[in-house]
Amino acid sequence: MKIFQCGNCKYSVFFENYTCDNCGHLTGYRAEDRMMLSFEPNIKALISDREHLEYKYCKNKVYDACNWIIAKDSPEDYCSACQLNRTIPNLSDPESDNLEYWRNLEVAKHRLIYQLQKFNLRIPSKLKHEDGLCFDFVAKQDNEKIMTGHANGVVTILIKEANSVLREQARIDLRESYRTLVGHLRHEVGHYYWNRLVKNDAKVLAQFRSIFGNESQDYSEALQTYYKTGTPKDWQKSYISKYATSHPWEDWAETWAHYLHIMDMVETAYFFKLNVKPNFKTKDLKTKVSFDPYTKVNFDVIVRKCVPLSLAVNSINRAMGIPDVYPFVISTAIIEKLKFVHHLLLPKRR
Ligand SMILES: [Zn+2]
Ligand SMILES: [Zn+2]
Ligand SMILES: [Zn+2]
Repeated sequence: MKIFQCGNCKYSVFFENYTCDNCGHLTGYRAEDRMMLSFEPNIKALISDREHLEYKYCKNKVYDACNWIIAKDSPEDYCSACQLNRTIPNLSDPESDNLEYWRNLEVAKHRLIYQLQKFNLRIPSKLKHEDGLCFDFVAKQDNEKIMTGHANGVVTILIKEANSVLREQARIDLRESYRTLVGHLRHEVGHYYWNRLVKNDAKVLAQFRSIFGNESQDYSEALQTYYKTGTPKDWQKSYISKYATSHPWEDWAETWAHYLHIMDMVETAYFFKLNVKPNFKTKDLKTKVSFDPYTKVNFDVIVRKCVPLSLAVNSINRAMGIPDVYPFVISTAIIEKLKFVHHLLLPKRR
């Protein structure tokens, strides 16, 4: 994620900020060019500090669920990220924690949309286009079969995933090393883009099958087998997670999610100009992120940054007694899978 600058006082501003921490000016994110704008707080109109143009906030700002802005004369009430919401949690009960859960979900979703837009991917809303994408953030009622997942452009996320206690419990129950909202969203949206970018292109599909295997094998049977027999012994050689072994579609979605994780980590490091240089002579841990990964054609250069970066950040986390930020091993076979995603997305960025 990029870091931004206040248009009034030039202090750093972060993606989720509603105001500048230094001067108190209001801040709003403009998706069209990924800029954070700032506004004089004491006047009614939202006039940007740098360009003196008038904007309005996305309607979800009233819930502190969105800080994105749209042009004042736009016919839209919602920003490009919030237009994708089909179902949001029921906010009418003041006793429930739904508002807090929804805000957590929106933080993750806005980060996802930032990234998809940076890849220049088409993100039509399913509310307007049959082949579009939308999000259902729903509570599971007793005896309902609804689950977190993706089907035909609809990404469903159970709002209990936004409760950190329940999510951690699920992570332990499922013996996962990592479970986050942004991880869920990146994974599920991966299934949508498989349909959009792989499924109907014979050449791409053939490439996909040679790397991930044949996805035409029965999906529910494969999942049943996975839950019954578990993972092959040396799964880490070829798969980024245990779940990725269950079916080529899940392998794709897990790989896609990790690709987005890696791009975001390296982009963040780039904007902070992170430089890993241990205070003794070594080559293995040295790195400097001097480029925006979204502009790089060669994926090897990007992935090479990950090991020193994650080791450094993991060590800081360990200093604070919190889990590793990136508890995964990226093998050569996994790099090949990540490269497939990278090359699929490259032409869209030009
Ligand atoms: Zn400021
Ligand atoms: Zn919005
Ligand atoms: Zn999946």
